[in-house]
Amino acid sequence: MVILGKEILPGKGAQLNLDVAKLHTSTPILVPVIVERAKVDGPTVLLMAGLHGDEINGVEVIRRIIRKGFNKPLRGTIICLPVFNIFGFLNLKRELPDGRDLNRSFPGSESGSLAAQFAYHFMKEITPHVDYVIDFHTGSSQRNNFPQIRCIFNDEESLELARIFNPPLILNSSHIPKTIRESLSKQGKKMLLFEGGKTNSIEELIVEEGLNGVKRVLSYLEMRSFKIDISKDRTPIYLDQSKWLRAPNSGMFQATVKNGARVVKGDTIGIVTDPYGKNERKIKATFEGYIICLNESPVVYKGDAIFHIGKEARI
Ligand SMILES: [Zn+2]
Repeated sequence: MVILGKEILPGKGAQLNLDVAKLHTSTPILVPVIVERAKVDGPTVLLMAGLHGDEINGVEVIRRIIRKGFNKPLRGTIICLPVFNIFGFLNLKRELPDGRDLNRSFPGSESGSLAAQFAYHFMKEITPHVDYVIDFHTGSSQRNNFPQIRCIFNDEESLELARIFNPPLILNSSHIPKTIRESLSKQGKKMLLFEGGKTNSIEELIVEEGLNGVKRVLSYLEMRSFKIDISKDRTPIYLDQSKWLRAPNSGMFQATVKNGARVVKGDTIGIVTDPYGKNERKIKATFEGYIICLNESPVVYKGDAIFHIGKEARI
């Protein structure tokens, strides 16, 4: 296997760098890529995080995987890309310094924006080697995602991998144009998108969900053998549609249900108040489903997304 210009022999590993661009100070920015290849042939799994620079939970998941040596496979190859948008990670921002969202810049181009160049080099240097991808995300800003895998339900293999990952929620999520998921799927790669927690946080429960999911998938692919306590297996809840509820007015916001809770139409799930004890407006669920994301901002403006509710699918 020759990746990023370096030959990795069976049973060997290397830390390589994706060399995409420089800072305005001429300092080169290198994106570390850690490759471990087994002596025995098998599939290649890419574990990646930090596509959005302020989404830290996944970075911690992959750090632990490397720290514990879980990225050394018994067969096949494991590629770890703990911090993809390293520019954003430097200052804990979602976007690249040019303000572009890397996850709306795929498949990219060599002469395009900084984000497009990142995407282009990834698609050229990394993607051709990869069979399976697990990409870690969190909700944006204060929006806290209940742990979930997003995939396309009519792709049976992805759905099966999602079930193996065993998150509490599995959401049918169609491809958004110019995302990494759309580009990889066009090339026939199988991808799971993990969403859990919120930005600028390391949340232990979310990190554990991510770590356990990776262990399960690697075991299923016979790339590692982990002791997995199947008595802790859950039956994931499958959701085939989701909708945001928005703040009916500006004010202080408090949810009165927990993230992940099941709600029925008419349930009071939160309140928006003024700070002076005068107004208090109840937020009611408009349909039956599960809270898949909760906005934890104490102050909201009219129209802000405050609850993301998923409708249960019949599978
Ligand atoms: Zn993200």
